[in-house]
Amino acid sequence: MKTPLEKNGIGIFGGTFDPIHNGHIQSAKMVSDWLGLANVLFIPAHIPPHKTQAHTIPHASATQRATMVSLACQPFPQFICDKRELTRSGHSYSVDTLKALKAEYPEQTLYFIIGMDSLLTFTQWHQYQDILTLCHLVVNTRPNYDISQVNQATKTLLENHQVDSVTILKQQKNGAIIFAPPVHFDISSTQIRANLCQQQCCKSSLSPLILDFINKNQLYR
Ligand code: ATP
Repeated sequence: MKTPLEKNGIGIFGGTFDPIHNGHIQSAKMVSDWLGLANVLFIPAHIPPHKTQAHTIPHASATQRATMVSLACQPFPQFICDKRELTRSGHSYSVDTLKALKAEYPEQTLYFIIGMDSLLTFTQWHQYQDILTLCHLVVNTRPNYDISQVNQATKTLLENHQVDSVTILKQQKNGAIIFAPPVHFDISSTQIRANLCQQQCCKSSLSPLILDFINKNQLYR
């Protein structure tokens, strides 16, 4: 099993991954290269707290989603599928996961990688202020989600925490928010599920390993 070894910092990429797609992988790779991270941990959520409406409840089982994440990580030595949330009962709160990771890797700086859509709701997350005492936030741009859409609480958060350069980011152990270079990966799991349901091709959005797993297990039909 791959385990984090070096001390250049660890990227944390949480999600439902229903299914994991090239937007997840490519944006994580871009951030990992940009910040020179030792590893990125992909952490599939067991019960995502924000996905409770009928159309957002995961379609594939937690085990299937985790298997797809492991498959997607295989070609990248620095990517690791971390299944800790699957063994925890109840909601998968990021703050609990980050506390556990900080206790496990006290010497490492943690970089929590999220998309712009997640930043727009960040101030509604469970104990969001505590999250910034444990890690930095690295925000990726996403088509259709724009910084102009943030609420007042997030504006205040950015005024207090945003940094503009990697040099300043690296001087702190936690508490900074930085925007990654604006590269757009116009892919979402919702769109992929809709395409698969209509038997449309998803080859450009999914790794062949994932597509194969989806077909073999008759997912998203
Ligand atoms: P869904 O469409 O089902 O809501 P999703 O494609 O947004 O799924 P999630 O698993 O919910 O995928 O996302 C996990 C994390 O990855 C979130 O922080 C999200 O913002 C980010 N993310 C998802 N897709 C992209 C993308 N194309 N580019 C950058 N970040 C992304």
